[in-house]
Amino acid sequence: MIPNVDHCFQKAGFDKKRLFYTQGDYGLFQCSEPCCQETFENEDTIRQMIEQQRDMRIPSELLPICSYCGKPMTMNLRSDDKFVEDEGWHRAAERYDNFLRTRRNMRVLFLELGVGYNTPGIIKYPFWRMTAQNPNAMYVCINKGDAVCSKEIKQQAICIDGDIGEVLDRIV
Ligand SMILES: [Zn+2]
Repeated sequence: MIPNVDHCFQKAGFDKKRLFYTQGDYGLFQCSEPCCQETFENEDTIRQMIEQQRDMRIPSELLPICSYCGKPMTMNLRSDDKFVEDEGWHRAAERYDNFLRTRRNMRVLFLELGVGYNTPGIIKYPFWRMTAQNPNAMYVCINKGDAVCSKEIKQQAICIDGDIGEVLDRIV
């Protein structure tokens, strides 16, 4: 599960079918209305915008328009109740639920990389709760400046305060 919407996992070559970008994906447009529960790959449009921008402006004809209702498109980002959860989103949510359900009391590593307190209810608190409920689970958190966990799971947790890239390099 990734809360980041910056599309970096996909750019790094991760199979998007193995990701659950629960908060959206900047690689996708959605209708701003939204008139439909669909998202649209936007790489070509964005690359055209980058090529043709001058003084922080792009030609108006490059502004993306919904092909169904004609309203402007926007990024697929959860910021209010207009967030579109498309078919891919629902399939990913289901895969994530299945994964958690079928491994309920198994040895599970909840590895949390750089999750802050902006939306702790998405990953951090559920990870703490699921660790507390499963004596075979471990919670590992790598975070620069915010490597903490609840006292309930102290015995099952490793919190590393540091740069994720450096820490992972040292482990490898
Ligand atoms: Zn629309």
